[in-house]
Amino acid sequence: MTNSPEKTWKIAVLPGDGIGIEVMAEGIKVLRAVMERVPGLSCTLREYPVGAGAYLKYGDPLPEESFEACKSADAILLGAMGIPSVRWPDGRELTPQIDLRERLDLYFGLRPIKLYHPSDAAICGPGATGIDLAIVRENTEGLMSGRLRPQTSSDRATDELLVTQKASERLFHATFKEARKRRKKVTLVDKANVLPSMVFFRKVFDEVALYYPDVETDRIYVDAASLYLVRRPNTFDVMVTENMFGDIISDLAAGLVGGMGMAPSADIGDTYAVFQPSHGSAPDIAGKGIANPVATILSVAMMLEWLPGEAAHKAAKKVYAAVTEVLSNPANRTPDLRGKMTTSELGTLVERAVLEQE
Ligand code: ATP
Repeated sequence: MTNSPEKTWKIAVLPGDGIGIEVMAEGIKVLRAVMERVPGLSCTLREYPVGAGAYLKYGDPLPEESFEACKSADAILLGAMGIPSVRWPDGRELTPQIDLRERLDLYFGLRPIKLYHPSDAAICGPGATGIDLAIVRENTEGLMSGRLRPQTSSDRATDELLVTQKASERLFHATFKEARKRRKKVTLVDKANVLPSMVFFRKVFDEVALYYPDVETDRIYVDAASLYLVRRPNTFDVMVTENMFGDIISDLAAGLVGGMGMAPSADIGDTYAVFQPSHGSAPDIAGKGIANPVATILSVAMMLEWLPGEAAHKAAKKVYAAVTEVLSNPANRTPDLRGKMTTSELGTLVERAVLEQE
């Protein structure tokens, strides 16, 4: 094995606001540790301002310099953005994370949900063991695409659920490819019994599925999906759905395995990708040093898995193994999972596990 780096990856680091800053520090700690342990893995990390703090300082929650840095980076690591009281002058919430997804065309929202220890499960019974699924959320259209359109009437408001052939095709192709890396099963979650947009979504799904005869498929309505996620989450592998349904069921699924602090995510396009915990800036616990850093550390692992090259992939495996090892002891938890550890103590345990691995 050579010690010379395959390539030095340029990582844009956007800690953001609230606990985003605290959990990012732990993600970076673990990334630096794995760089030490894996010969050939080299990354340069540079921080850029985004979020409510950036808005207060520069008048823009996604300053152009930060956006350009994201475009010239090989991958983007994001903490969390937003402070409830900081809004646009017209009262609208700042949504730089949605803007980033749309401007970088990150159509494939991947949210893995894994139960690391039975003590973290929110449900009991036979369905509660072995939860290991991934929710794929379409990120660029669906029920969120019309959010910026001006409302023209004073006595009604409408939202459009946009589904296009092009966006659905690329979403489903990426989903089936993801399923091939896993247990080769894809469940489409829609509302095709009621909404024409969802009938169309299902039609495109059926067309794309024909290219992947080795992958088992299933189709369920989003209301039933919510029931089955609670009753038998361990029967799912990859679930794919439109933007808003994905937003909702991925929080529900995160709840099954210990909450938002356990749920990493990746928003991936053909050129760019952003890796971030699924949670927000959690103003209720920000600054207390008790946020769970696991979702961010797992997002770092997802980034390493996504980057090309043997060294990055080896590093990803090391981070997953370290998280698995640390979480195998239910005492190694922050207060969201009834533990006593601080953010930094838990991050340091994972860092040490990475450094001490074979
Ligand atoms: P957003 O709309 O930006 O996603 P939100 O207001 O829906 O944010 P979060 O900020 O994700 O929600 O927080 C939801 C709840 O989960 C809060 O009670 C918060 O304290 C908790 N929470 C979120 N992330 C973590 C974490 N990493 N560790 C511990 N608790 C967390």
